[in-house]
Amino acid sequence: MTKKLISITLSILLAFSLLVLPVSAEDLFDDAVELALGEKITFDFTYDVFEKYIKFVADKTMTVSVSSETADETDPYCMVYDADGVDIAYADDSYTGYDFICKFEVTEGETYYILVGLYNFETATTVVSLACGHAYTDGICDYCGNVCDHTELGFLKTCECGYAFEGIDIDSGDTIHISGSDAVVLRFVPEETGAYILRSDAENNDPVCEIFCGTEYIDFADDFGYDLNFVFFAELEAGVSYYYYVHDYSDEDEISFNVTLSKAVHTAEDGAEHPLEYHDYYWGNCQENAYTEGIYCTECSEYIEGHLEDGYGWHKDYDDDAKCDFCGAEMIYEDYPEMEINEIVSLVIEMIREIISLFEDLINRGFELFVDIIK
Ligand SMILES: [Zn+2]
Ligand SMILES: [Zn+2]
Ligand SMILES: [Zn+2]
Ligand SMILES: [Zn+2]
Repeated sequence: MTKKLISITLSILLAFSLLVLPVSAEDLFDDAVELALGEKITFDFTYDVFEKYIKFVADKTMTVSVSSETADETDPYCMVYDADGVDIAYADDSYTGYDFICKFEVTEGETYYILVGLYNFETATTVVSLACGHAYTDGICDYCGNVCDHTELGFLKTCECGYAFEGIDIDSGDTIHISGSDAVVLRFVPEETGAYILRSDAENNDPVCEIFCGTEYIDFADDFGYDLNFVFFAELEAGVSYYYYVHDYSDEDEISFNVTLSKAVHTAEDGAEHPLEYHDYYWGNCQENAYTEGIYCTECSEYIEGHLEDGYGWHKDYDDDAKCDFCGAEMIYEDYPEMEINEIVSLVIEMIREIISLFEDLINRGFELFVDIIK
């Protein structure tokens, strides 16, 4: 977290420095080193030189991948611009760590500039590779003709070509026993678009599950209601490969439990299937109970699962007059230590989110503004 914050702070400095730098975007791009697909370049970043540009001219319309290999725990990032200086892609950390993998679409004949930088004014050697972004059909890349050897299985235990998979395929209606000392990956390709529920039935584990589409993280589930098991409600698209990454919360305990996948429907007494909704934790207020997460049937207008009473909620003061909007009580935080801690935590999380999005915007805008100014 600290490292991230430093990175963010440096990002804003970077955004402002772009606004006042005495050189033009063309000058920055002029220093770019031209690289072709399949080539690598080594950058030695120092306190003074923490950014470099790569130029790439596309000779066909395709997906390109730019990735970094950096020693130690240093943190490179990249931003891709078109020839007008408009940013089209950005990548920082990937699931493999601080190194980035950035895929972007290019058009035949167009020129692109890739900014590679290092956060935190660190000193490090970064090897940057430019390669085909590969789109496989039957194990052969549509762009470069590469025949996938299915050896590089990522943490989702799947090959990028979609062929090799060392996890477990699961279908709607299946119950699968999973065990072992590592996370288990379940692959699910829905036949129908809709909501699905994956649930665990552990007795001696605290199961956690993340869901990915390709390698893109979508959502996670941990405890449902008062139970350590998850009830993972997810809207999924037909024909797409989803990966449920199931493990124990501690990541150290051996896992041993069943998971069951089903369509998120409520089967009524007459056999009709009613659609279900997932409702988040309801915080309530001083006059109203809080409720745990729940699964709600829209046809029956009732909760099928979860939605357990969790005691009265807290006083709420949305209009900031230091009085509860519901009962008029004075907001004396000392009387409600639980509220204080929770509010501070959520406030801090909210602030960090705001800061990240603000700074990301600033970097982008700083650069575009700058390009506009010098034009
Ligand atoms: Zn390829
Ligand atoms: Zn493969
Ligand atoms: Zn129903
Ligand atoms: Zn109140």
